[in-house]
Amino acid sequence: MIVDADYTAKPYAEWSVKDWPETYQNPSYKNIFAPGIAFAPPHAISKPRTSKNGTVISPAPPRTGMPSGITAKIVADNIIDSIKSGKESLNHKGSMGNMGAACIASAGYGMTSGSGVSITTYPIVPDYEKYPKTQGRQLGKTFGEIGLAGHWLKLALHYAFIYKAKMRPFWWLIPE
Ligand SMILES: Cc1cc2nc3c(=O)[nH]c(=O)nc-3n(C[C@H](O)[C@H](O)[C@H](O)COP(=O)(O)OP(=O)(O)OC[C@H]3O[C@@H](n4cnc5c(N)ncnc54)[C@H](O)[C@@H]3O)c2cc1C
Repeated sequence: MIVDADYTAKPYAEWSVKDWPETYQNPSYKNIFAPGIAFAPPHAISKPRTSKNGTVISPAPPRTGMPSGITAKIVADNIIDSIKSGKESLNHKGSMGNMGAACIASAGYGMTSGSGVSITTYPIVPDYEKYPKTQGRQLGKTFGEIGLAGHWLKLALHYAFIYKAKMRPFWWLIPE
């Protein structure tokens, strides 16, 4: 769904982190929002390339669980504020250009032989103005690691998120 992004067609050299949406509000229907994987990205996030067969390779943003949860909360908070104040309120904002993401992919099961790939990236959409020397990313918050710790973390998150989804006591303490 079209949201508050800058969808102007422009070449890669002119892409900016500012093109990315912040409130996920549809510009025509102000009471409709599209957080998570529902919003239309303004463009790919990496430089488009072409394979030797001529296939265009244009990586889309990795819209995983964490940014989906964060953007959904931003939208929910704005809807709550708008209802409470009786007028449109969009003070909660968050672009994928100023938010990070963490993701763990299972790579093997077992208490001692399990494995998980832990990945963090900040920001999700590279910001070449802020971090020009490191491909648009803050290196201290961008890493990847594979090992047993990742497996245990994935297992813990599995139960934590199901707990949160069921809104059991203190569910709101568990982050997105
Ligand atoms: C196989 C797989 C593995 C993944 N693993 C990871 C992972 O390890 N870590 C991670 O961070 N992310 C992972 N992801 C990505 C993550 O699941 C998504 O980014 C996230 O679920 C998106 O959340 P969402 O709320 O935007 O959309 P969804 O979770 O897709 O929620 C949309 C909801 O809308 C409902 N719906 C659709 N149409 C209608 C309609 N017309 N009326 C009413 N309801 C409707 C759907 O049934 C669905 O429940 C994975 C995704 C897949 C497919």
